[in-house]
Amino acid sequence: MKFFDRPISEIAADIQSGKTSARDVAVRALNLIEEGNAGLNAFITVCRESALKRAEEIDALPPEEKKSMPLCGIPLAVKDNICTKGVRMTCASRMLENFIPPYDATVIEFLEKAGAVIVGKTNLDEFAMGSANENSYFGPARNPHNPAKITGGSSGGSAAAVGAGIVPMALGTDTGGSIRQPCSHCGAAGLKPTYGRVSRYGAVAFASSLDQIGPMASDVRDIGLMLSVMAGPDIHDSTCAGKPFADSAGNYSGNISGFRVGMPAEYFGGGLSEEVRGAIAPVIENLKSRGAKIVDISLPNVKYAVATYYIISSAEASANLARYDGVRYGFRAEGAKSILEMYSRTRAQGFGPECKRRIMLGTYALSSGYYDAYYLKAARVRTLITQDFTNAFNSCDVIISPASPIPAGNIGERAGDPVQTYLMDIYTVSANLAGIPGLSVPSPAAGGMPVGVQFMAPQWREDLLLKAGYAVQTMGRL
Ligand code: GLN
Repeated sequence: MKFFDRPISEIAADIQSGKTSARDVAVRALNLIEEGNAGLNAFITVCRESALKRAEEIDALPPEEKKSMPLCGIPLAVKDNICTKGVRMTCASRMLENFIPPYDATVIEFLEKAGAVIVGKTNLDEFAMGSANENSYFGPARNPHNPAKITGGSSGGSAAAVGAGIVPMALGTDTGGSIRQPCSHCGAAGLKPTYGRVSRYGAVAFASSLDQIGPMASDVRDIGLMLSVMAGPDIHDSTCAGKPFADSAGNYSGNISGFRVGMPAEYFGGGLSEEVRGAIAPVIENLKSRGAKIVDISLPNVKYAVATYYIISSAEASANLARYDGVRYGFRAEGAKSILEMYSRTRAQGFGPECKRRIMLGTYALSSGYYDAYYLKAARVRTLITQDFTNAFNSCDVIISPASPIPAGNIGERAGDPVQTYLMDIYTVSANLAGIPGLSVPSPAAGGMPVGVQFMAPQWREDLLLKAGYAVQTMGRL
């Protein structure tokens, strides 16, 4: 049974009022991790001692101070590509196997100040590159609903931990769907914020023009609460817009009368499995029956989104990963006779196959002679995709779509076929290319394995996503 089957605000209120203690809550989360992790492989590092110490500090605070902390004593799992001072951060790579960051990511600072207690660092695809969590140096994470199945990726460990109910909240990063897709597979809610809403300082860069850190939880209200803590200005990240997010009870009224929900023809065509289609159709019917207007829309350029995304993200990754050269961070190969040999041996031994593939793809797309044909063209198509969304939002408030074309597959099923895996990102990458926010919430109409319903909204309108997501969450079983 899920221990954390209640909204975060209720658990925090119990800690604030002394009904329970932060220590007690931390112990229970740590015990659940200990019991559950052997089967799930969701955590790379468990922070038992530091979590207990922090929880005890919170318990010792004066009551007024506790009351000012919206996440007072709430256990938090953090994807292992987000810096936590003094705690090993691996990025699920041999390259950083023993790397200890000397500083906290800005979101970690904000969340800890609000009372969050970090209980562990979660598994992911190496450097967040993947859609199944199978590209991890520490082995795949396993789906809490069926351990033979993938969690999705790249934030697979965080999604598994939330989906299993062993932590009430977690952080992921989303460059092309890595929060929304694993949440879809594991039965959790997850938000990719508007690009620039949340500081990226301290999140290990994969593709800097696409990356965002975002919240993952069981309840849509928890997503809003976390975002309100995470958003805001940061002098360390010049792409952070400094727009705070003010959550409001109005987002959770359940009233969606007159709400315009766009249904893009391109997201419900061929390639969508019957299981996913069957889990989303009743949601659309239900929204309609509650007064929402379903509007047919078209996003003509999203058919190029996967190709565009893999050129842009790999180009940026090839530049960002250049820093792992054996000199400044982490792993250094032994036995080299020259500095060049040291670089190449370090990179050959330190990176796994998917990272190498992306570095090669990206370097090729950026090389002189190919730059115009690939990178520049992709950058132009990115603008067209962004314009598609701007046009669509003239006639609807949010867009509804699947998060993934299929429910979670079996571990190993697609491991040898990177292109098949890339195609799994078809519904998620466009939001990153356009910089708009996206939320995945579990469909109450899913059959066996969980299926996520994705909503996308115009920039800075996460409030609309929470409103739509909460309406889905409160439908009851369909
Ligand atoms: N699956 C996508 C990729 O492999 C997205 C990853 C992500 O969002 N970090 O690039």
